[in-house]
Amino acid sequence: MTRSLITAAEWTLGSDAGDDIPEVVHSVVCLSCGAASAAEDNDRLPVEVWALKHTGLNPDHRRFTARAETFWAVTPAEGNPYREKDAQSTRAPG
Ligand SMILES: [Zn+2]
Repeated sequence: MTRSLITAAEWTLGSDAGDDIPEVVHSVVCLSCGAASAAEDNDRLPVEVWALKHTGLNPDHRRFTARAETFWAVTPAEGNPYREKDAQSTRAPG
């Protein structure tokens, strides 16, 4: 029998996207030669166009690894002592 104690209620996992952090960063790498597209914030189309152009210039290069990176953050939930501590440390000095 496996017994687990999970106290996830004290912490919350969510997206870390915000002013300086995109929702998703798209990129692609050619499996034939390793050439890589630029990373694009929140826009997949330029990466798709890059892959199509890459195959157009190199007709044997047709397979890619596509990446869609997202960013997570764990923050203290209501009742977690770190919540008040974080609030104090982010307050602007008086
Ligand atoms: Zn290639």
